[in-house]
Amino acid sequence: MTKTIKFNSGEMIMEQGTIGDCAYIIDDGSVEIFINHPDGSTQILATRGAGAIIGEMALVDRKRRTASVRAIKDCTVIKITEQDFQHRLESSDPIMKIVTKVILGRYRDTITRVNVFGESDNPDSTEAHEKQITQSGKAIGHLKTANEFKHAIHNDELMLYYQPIIDLETKEIKGFEALMRWIHPEKGFMPPNLFIPIAEDSGLIVEASDWAVEEAANALHRMKKANPHIDQNAFMSVNFTAIDMLHPEFLTKLLAVCERTQVKPSDIKIEMTERLLMNNPEKVRSMLQACRDAGFKIAIDDFGTGYSSLSYLHHYPIDTLKIDRSFVVQMTKDESALNLVKGIINLAKSLNMSLVAEGIEENREEELLLESDCEMAQGYKYSKPQPEDKLTEWLLHH
Ligand code: C2E
Ligand code: CA
Ligand code: CA
Repeated sequence: MTKTIKFNSGEMIMEQGTIGDCAYIIDDGSVEIFINHPDGSTQILATRGAGAIIGEMALVDRKRRTASVRAIKDCTVIKITEQDFQHRLESSDPIMKIVTKVILGRYRDTITRVNVFGESDNPDSTEAHEKQITQSGKAIGHLKTANEFKHAIHNDELMLYYQPIIDLETKEIKGFEALMRWIHPEKGFMPPNLFIPIAEDSGLIVEASDWAVEEAANALHRMKKANPHIDQNAFMSVNFTAIDMLHPEFLTKLLAVCERTQVKPSDIKIEMTERLLMNNPEKVRSMLQACRDAGFKIAIDDFGTGYSSLSYLHHYPIDTLKIDRSFVVQMTKDESALNLVKGIINLAKSLNMSLVAEGIEENREEELLLESDCEMAQGYKYSKPQPEDKLTEWLLHH
């Protein structure tokens, strides 16, 4: 926790040569920063007043203070401890986190010495040093991937694959889910579970999602035109992250996509995970309501894997629950998992939501879902995600 401390005029706030473990923000008063030279002389480097931060390098590494600071007027300062800083950094907005890490890394010349990546262990112990190097290596790897992903967006390295979502009873196609693929020029196929979190951390996901939703809307329009057998109300599900959805222009951009692609808002289904609802409840609720009012559909992805608190569901304008594949797999082996799935299906029905079971591979899974009155499904049993041309062909024979 941060703490306020008072220093009288003339009092020392920090001493050159001591190990620092905190920084201070001057709330009121002023200070002078000075150094003592080995020959006994003193050199004043600067004076600082309200709003200035002093001793900030202690938040980065536990080295000796390179200067002293003394109050030259009565001062009130806010103490920021190293632990507090690291805690705030870890819980900060992902963009803030990554930018802060990069700036601090550069500031300290060599990124391997930066202590913000780990707990405040003794940086001189071999174990702590190795940990720092591993964590820095990971962070550098992520930065590299983020950098490459930035090019991917502009170099046509991203693609969308589409997976049909079918009516379990009639086998009619009700819609599609757009799933992003990155074909890296050297590394080849990159799995979304690897690059999406990095794109999210670096904020690049916003640009990628903007591209994806427009591409997916165009594809839906083309597929409906090419295949009159597809239900004209078939929807396109697009995955979004918290960063996308909390962007102030999220809805405006979606509406512009509909305008450009001639796809109705009701044909676009926004897929988001449960976690997003829990982290920013009020903001997300009002944004979802605005999207819903504009006609877009909303689905909760991977339902059941997050914060299984069901009480929040009716607070949000949700059209569809997607039951995570892990339940579908478990359901055929375990009676209690089957009962849980039935419970989710009943819950969705009582809240007037539709239901999609994810990841159907086996006949037995389909049978149990049909018996449980589940409405829609998606899985390799029907079709793997495919590029648009392959899917268009598949649709002709479906
Ligand atoms: P998700 O949204 O839960 O997508 C469903 C995943 O299950 C897809 O993996 C799909 O290929 C896979 N799947 C579908 N049917 C089956 C099946 O029968 N068996 C098995 N084993 N798997 C099945 P994929 O395409 O690798 O995507 C992984 C995750 O990456 C997605 O999970 C989603 O969270 C994220 N993702 C993919 N594309 C995007 C995107 O455009 N934007 C965002 N924000 N996230 C995306
Ligand atoms: Ca999804
Ligand atoms: Ca899912």
